[in-house]
Amino acid sequence: MVVLRAKCIIVGDCTVGKSALTQVFHSDGSHYPKAYSMTVGVELCVKNISIPDSNDAVELYMYDSTGKEMFSDYVQQFWDGPSVVMVILDVTNEKSFSSCAKWLERVRAKAGQAIQGVLVANKMDLDGRRCVTKEAAQEFANGRGLEYFECSAKEQEGVDAPFHYMANAFYKLYQERVEVMKTLT
Ligand code: GDP
Ligand code: MG
Repeated sequence: MVVLRAKCIIVGDCTVGKSALTQVFHSDGSHYPKAYSMTVGVELCVKNISIPDSNDAVELYMYDSTGKEMFSDYVQQFWDGPSVVMVILDVTNEKSFSSCAKWLERVRAKAGQAIQGVLVANKMDLDGRRCVTKEAAQEFANGRGLEYFECSAKEQEGVDAPFHYMANAFYKLYQERVEVMKTLT
């Protein structure tokens, strides 16, 4: 049995639902933060994710940072050496979508261009107010090598999928490296 540690940094504009999504996933749905409280600095959540068809697991260290202070040196020191990245947008907020390119560039500048990750469109429960289309978001994700997901932290729909995807992608990369090591020895 192997337990891998993966560091996941969670980025996106203020109020897209970074903290809500992280906390719903972390608590298996028992904790959707009702009152809006702005995250101060960085919050760390850890969750163990079993890898299907194996005895192995990935321990996902999720770093949820605040939109406003995200560019401060204080917050960016937590960005060192991430394994995967989650970029979040709010489907009712066009600006949060256009910011995704900037967030991703910042992360990749630090972490390397090859870092794997997901683009998550949150608040899909607010269908009537939606202004970011699935097609546009999906196309952006594909163009940047990100896997695309839609979810609602509030309705607890589709929350697990992007986190599980990241854990599995990280695990697969690890296995590939192990295979390469074997051919070398
Ligand atoms: P953060 O600044 O990115 O961490 O965003 P928060 O997690 O603090 O959420 C900002 C606001 O959006 C809060 O009032 C949340 O209750 C709300 N929110 C988060 N996710 C959803 C969702 O899926 N649907 C709806 N309708 N509201 C959401
Ligand atoms: Mg937050």
